[in-house]
Amino acid sequence: MTTHTTRMLIIGSGPAGLSAAIYGARAGMQPIVVQGLQPGGQLTITTDVENYPGFRDVIQGPWLMEQMQAQAEHVGTRVIWDTIVDIDLASGSPFTATGDSGDTYVGDVVVIATGAQAKWLGVLGEQELGGKGVSACATCDGFFFRGKKVAVIGGGNTAVEEALYLTNHSDDVTLIHRRDELRSEKILQDRLFANPKIKVLWNKQVTRFLGDPAGQGLASLELKDTVTGAVSDFIADGAFVAIGHKPATELFKGKLPMDENGYLLVEPGTPRTSIPGVFACGDVMDHIYRQAVTAAGTGCMAALDAERFLAHREFEAGKELPSVAAY
Ligand code: NDP
Repeated sequence: MTTHTTRMLIIGSGPAGLSAAIYGARAGMQPIVVQGLQPGGQLTITTDVENYPGFRDVIQGPWLMEQMQAQAEHVGTRVIWDTIVDIDLASGSPFTATGDSGDTYVGDVVVIATGAQAKWLGVLGEQELGGKGVSACATCDGFFFRGKKVAVIGGGNTAVEEALYLTNHSDDVTLIHRRDELRSEKILQDRLFANPKIKVLWNKQVTRFLGDPAGQGLASLELKDTVTGAVSDFIADGAFVAIGHKPATELFKGKLPMDENGYLLVEPGTPRTSIPGVFACGDVMDHIYRQAVTAAGTGCMAALDAERFLAHREFEAGKELPSVAAY
């Protein structure tokens, strides 16, 4: 069992964690990134990325994450393949965490970038057609269905927003919901019902996604009426599952304030949690924007605030500020 000590312990290796690492490393904080169960985060399970600034042509999500990791390592980050299974935040800085490997991690500051996972229906064909017609992110993949027929599954704010967003690309959007009323905000519902490009199918549960015979993509959705039990087929080129996200915050239950959906609460407009020296960035604290570029932005903010926190503390303690050259 090894003890890893760092000025900046980063939990999670998506765009938020790796951006925090790039800034932290360049500020001499010698960050350690503990990768977690899905190294690289949600982008590693998407394919084409067309909205991350800096790339004229389509790039691949896994490739982008490899580049971010390589950049973070190049400037002095240690990336460790482990998953944090316990952490003591109550005792204050330095914070001690335990990895699944049995190793101990000690960090003067902790940056939480554990992300969130889209919830899936868990029905036949969903996994197989992921990236080939079935998606959980309209902002990421909607563009690929320009002029095509698309469906959105869900009845909350995300589903309604995704349906509205998709009308930028398609004139034929259908929202499929399992009940006969939406749970989304009234103003969004008003916009949805007023949009001539959107139809709503009520009381329908998706029971299966079917691919086309050539294996090229989605052909249709099998629907079951939740009132009559009748089964029908709905033809669509693309389907967006929008039934909510789950932030990866199990580890912090009872340790940090969260909202009713489990997202970490931060001081508005900052990545600061209620515990000095503990910062949260990316999807774990953002249930609204959830983009790679916004996650990267808040990762940068977390590193800048972490650096200020340590500098201030060292100044208060009457120590000399550490120089970058010392690392
Ligand atoms: P929600 O939990 O609000 O809604 C999930 C929707 O998916 C519900 O309509 C639910 O149906 C449906 N659903 C859940 N499981 C299944 C299933 N297995 N099969 C079929 N349908 C299912 O999630 P959202 O992502 O929409 O929103 C999460 C939070 O983020 C909310 O607090 C929301 O207000 C907020 N948000 C805010 C935004 C904004 O302010 N602009 C934008 C996006 C989200 P049912 O209604 O029957 O339970």
